[in-house]
Amino acid sequence: MTQVRVAVGGSSGSIGTQTLDVVRAESEQFRVTALSVHSSSDVLIEQAKEFRPDLVVVTNPAEIDRVASALPGVTVSSNITDLVEAADVVVNAVVGFAGLPLTEATLRAGKRLALANKESLIAAGPVVQPLRKTPGAELVPVDSEHCALHQCLRSSTNVDREVGRLVLTASGGPFRGRTRANLAGVSIADALAHPTWSMGPKITIDSSTLMNKGLEVIEAHELFNVDYDNIEVVVHPQSIVHSMVEFSDGSTIAQLSMPDMRLPIGYALGFPTRIRTAFGAINWQELSRLDFAPPDTETFRCLSIAYEAGRMGGTAPAWISAANEVAVEAFLNGQIEWLQIADVIEATLERHDGSIPSQVADIVEADRKARAEAGTVLRSK
Ligand code: NDP
Ligand code: MG
Repeated sequence: MTQVRVAVGGSSGSIGTQTLDVVRAESEQFRVTALSVHSSSDVLIEQAKEFRPDLVVVTNPAEIDRVASALPGVTVSSNITDLVEAADVVVNAVVGFAGLPLTEATLRAGKRLALANKESLIAAGPVVQPLRKTPGAELVPVDSEHCALHQCLRSSTNVDREVGRLVLTASGGPFRGRTRANLAGVSIADALAHPTWSMGPKITIDSSTLMNKGLEVIEAHELFNVDYDNIEVVVHPQSIVHSMVEFSDGSTIAQLSMPDMRLPIGYALGFPTRIRTAFGAINWQELSRLDFAPPDTETFRCLSIAYEAGRMGGTAPAWISAANEVAVEAFLNGQIEWLQIADVIEATLERHDGSIPSQVADIVEADRKARAEAGTVLRSK
């Protein structure tokens, strides 16, 4: 069997290291041919010694020499889009807007994009969509909810006619059930203590504010072309039902598994064939209950802000995604309170210029502008 060549952008992170776990478990089927980090050169060197890729990319130029001298015979680059040529499947596990060049280059090259980096699709939806039509290009979501929806949608032979609504599940994060009043002054450690998933810091904070779910609503709209009125969020604290599709006849199909990102990663690598390692298998004798409740959008305003930006379209999603990155970083640096994250995003969106992007440069400009506006908002806090 010819091995599928896998490139991992962001290999030192939570999704990146779990991708390597999947390849370890399925080494007959997959081979890692390229890896990238930003600054974690020690991690990269260790990974390269184990997986023997042809290429490694370090996007922080200060780390290049160290990596090059530790890995003789391996091509070392500072350009993340070099990953694409070395692979059949590119896993984009970079965090934040920095993931956009890899998303763009992979689709443009007509390759499969296993997309964890939701921010690139959310910010650049209008310019990513046409790239998905490149011959050979294929976007398979790694985000667990979207991977679930992708699986549920396979049960329909006429998605346009049969899909009623998409139901995204949300764990509710560490602050589920709390009110605004008792969220004043929560610490960084409290916000980072996710009850069901272990993830990188940015998405963990996004989960605590429900901005992650808001971004995922936009991601679902972009991926599956479903109207915002037909995308619903439901809180499901156990994180076992990863999302559901309700069809026109009232039937709901859901995807269930234990919360383990290696399942959606393996799905995106192997699609349309399922891998043989059962990463998320459920012990039904132990699973006693599955709960569902509506989200509290008064307390977790980021969810409503994201719906609003999604409906506005154009560069509005890019603006809230950028403002969110600025606000989360400010929170993690101790500059603002947790409750102010939503304030910063909302005030930035109020300054949105209504621009409509037609190329990647427009998205980059929107991101720059939104960060500048969010910075101004922050300084007024
Ligand atoms: P981490 O913070 O754990 O890892 C981020 C990775 O991106 C690291 O390898 C980091 O390298 C690299 N990176 C950071 N900045 C840059 C940059 N400027 N240019 C290139 N690479 C960079 O994040 P996660 O793995 O948690 O998340 C990655 C993506 O996956 C996010 O978009 C997130 O929303 C999404 N996702 C994550 C899930 C999870 O379970 N973690 C679940 C669903 C989606 P270095 O170490 O050198 O800084
Ligand atoms: Mg998710």
